Amino acid sequence: MFKSEVKSEIGEDISILIKLDNHPWNYLCECGDASKLTVKDIQNSNAVFISHTHIDHFANFDSVFRHQIGIQRRVVICGPKGIAEQVRNRIKSYTWNLIKKGSIIYEIRELISEEKVIIYELEPPLWDLKKINETQGNVIFKDKSFEVSAVLLNHKIPTLAYKFKENDTTKIDIQASGFKGGKWVKELKETFDKQDTEAIISIEAKDYKSESLFHLLHIQKGDSVGVIMDHAANEENHSKIKNHFFECQKVFIESFYKAEDKESAITNYHSYSTMSAKVMREAKVVEAIPVHFSRKYKEDEILEIKREFDLELKNKS
Ligand SMILES: [Zn+2]
Ligand SMILES: [Zn+2]
Repeated sequence: MFKSEVKSEIGEDISILIKLDNHPWNYLCECGDASKLTVKDIQNSNAVFISHTHIDHFANFDSVFRHQIGIQRRVVICGPKGIAEQVRNRIKSYTWNLIKKGSIIYEIRELISEEKVIIYELEPPLWDLKKINETQGNVIFKDKSFEVSAVLLNHKIPTLAYKFKENDTTKIDIQASGFKGGKWVKELKETFDKQDTEAIISIEAKDYKSESLFHLLHIQKGDSVGVIMDHAANEENHSKIKNHFFECQKVFIESFYKAEDKESAITNYHSYSTMSAKVMREAKVVEAIPVHFSRKYKEDEILEIKREFDLELKNKS
């Protein structure tokens, strides 16, 4: 299960922290102002996901590397085409003569199209950008228990909308099986995952054909959480969102404007309350959360955005 939390207060920009049960690291989405984001949250982050580099999504990146210098490990930064150079430029605006090689390594992954990721490396003290690899497809981060894929949305520039998807797992109900647990459980799960129907599984000194035990197993669907930042509320973006985030467990979606300020949303390639809710409803997202509101709104207007969003989300027509 993922645990996700908005780390920005009302009136600040946007930053969301994602954690996974039984997993040691944090995953930071967006680097806008976020007073609830702690030094520990940053130091325990294993990867940072940036949708695009408008200042409200990237201004707090200085705090991120400020607190990560010295952690002596690799941190991945994911973002759109050009972010590798922007990260390097940000870092190089400081003086690094006392910082040694190995105090951190940034691995920067640019999704340059929905079919290709280019990977760079950046290290102190010189911070020269080195291209080290490229991969095919839109999976930009992968761990043994989950992966993150992205689609490119149009916000007058490409922005990345990320989906964290935990792996599906094979489960057994030991009590219902009538057997005692043992190493056969692991063997059975492995043969099931490989769909090896002929393997022999020994339980309590008796041999069984693997297929005859498959009914004891079931697949538990992995959790999923999405982060959809700035995007124009248009048909092309909506169709990508509905496709990529279909039946997602939880999605944070920008709802920058109130419905009555729809014209501003159109002008600025943003979305607005009712449209963000509509696309979440149509994507059959289980829990949809509106985030990232224009700073021109006061607290009561933000409550109104949330009300408009919730009403539209429940709209059955
Ligand atoms: Zn933007
Ligand atoms: Zn923004």
